[in-house]
Amino acid sequence: MKSVRVVVVGAGVIGFSTAVCIAEALPFCSVTLVAERFTPDTTSDGAAGIMFTSHSPDIPVERQRRWFKDSFDHFLAIAQSQHAPEAGVIMSSGWQIFKEVPAEKKPYWSDFVFGFRHMTASELKRFPDHRFGQAFTTLKCECSTYLPWLEKRFKKAGGRVEQRKVNSLQELSGYDIVVNCSGLGSKTLVGDTQMHPIRGQILKVQAPWLKHFIRDGDGKTYIYPGIHSVTIGGTRQEGDWRLDVDEGDTRSIIERCSRLEPSLSKAKVLSTWVGLRPGRRNVRVEREEVLLQGRRVPVVHNYGHGGGGVTISWGTALDALGLVRQCIHEMPLHAKL
Ligand SMILES: Cc1cc2nc3c(=O)[nH]c(=O)nc-3n(C[C@H](O)[C@H](O)[C@H](O)COP(=O)(O)OP(=O)(O)OC[C@H]3O[C@@H](n4cnc5c(N)ncnc54)[C@H](O)[C@@H]3O)c2cc1C
Repeated sequence: MKSVRVVVVGAGVIGFSTAVCIAEALPFCSVTLVAERFTPDTTSDGAAGIMFTSHSPDIPVERQRRWFKDSFDHFLAIAQSQHAPEAGVIMSSGWQIFKEVPAEKKPYWSDFVFGFRHMTASELKRFPDHRFGQAFTTLKCECSTYLPWLEKRFKKAGGRVEQRKVNSLQELSGYDIVVNCSGLGSKTLVGDTQMHPIRGQILKVQAPWLKHFIRDGDGKTYIYPGIHSVTIGGTRQEGDWRLDVDEGDTRSIIERCSRLEPSLSKAKVLSTWVGLRPGRRNVRVEREEVLLQGRRVPVVHNYGHGGGGVTISWGTALDALGLVRQCIHEMPLHAKL
């Protein structure tokens, strides 16, 4: 008999990762995932899904290292298993290049990716505008494939899904624990004024000869070869809510990426996409209590992942699971029976 009713709001990579962690680890909970949009219509669906970009300036680096490591281990185990094609996870090698030597030459995640090293002068020769670079192998998770895979895994663990918009947490008063993974939606759902969109436009192109990723350290220009196409980008427009494709951005992306990889001028454009990163100074993974219809209900937050949500999705989901466990532990005994 399932005795603790948990609701997870959000069906992006954060919502589904968190829901799977809870449903699999706590079989005595009934877990319902509620969301307005499901795959293929979430922000997560369009993310290139390369692992290395997440950074929260005020969160202790040890906690961020754990988020990264737990996520890397999770995706690596998938990439090395028979589930890799169905889950859309691959290993990906390449370069991050900088026009100026960055203050942080060895980022916190460099211990976890494989073979991290600084690029040699001869490697840098092909990027004449850049003076410094890092070479490494990481993982890439394509969410348009990964989300349906996670959804199956969630349902197998007994989870249920419901498609609807939640206008207020008050609507969720029938649950014992609310887990908020609503990304940018948290701006209105929980009134978080720190939340803001960071608009990103990308193109998918056909260029099967490209095997290595190239990312400019400013985060605005990148080339990520994937399973079926190459993602090229991008833009980082803070506070910009436009979801329509901007032709000026398209031209700029092709021009900037072709400068890094001239053969791209021969690539066929397959599609163009815009998504709004759930921007916040720091990712928010914490709990609070909220009065819902006169009852104090624990709310576990897991949102605000900005441009690195896929990168730390599993690690932050495990942290959120830990907070849910704490909530259950502190519940009066009769509520758990
Ligand atoms: C162009 C681009 C490229 C990117 N590349 C990468 C990358 O290479 N690597 C990386 O790690 N990250 C990348 N990201 C970032 C990544 O996409 C995000 O960090 C991640 O998708 C956030 O996931 P999420 O689940 O929080 O949000 P979302 O995917 O936006 O999901 C939010 C969910 O909450 C639901 N929701 C919101 N409000 C409500 C409500 N009131 N009621 C019901 N449901 C609600 C939505 O319907 C949706 O299901 C990229 C993003 C963009 C835009």
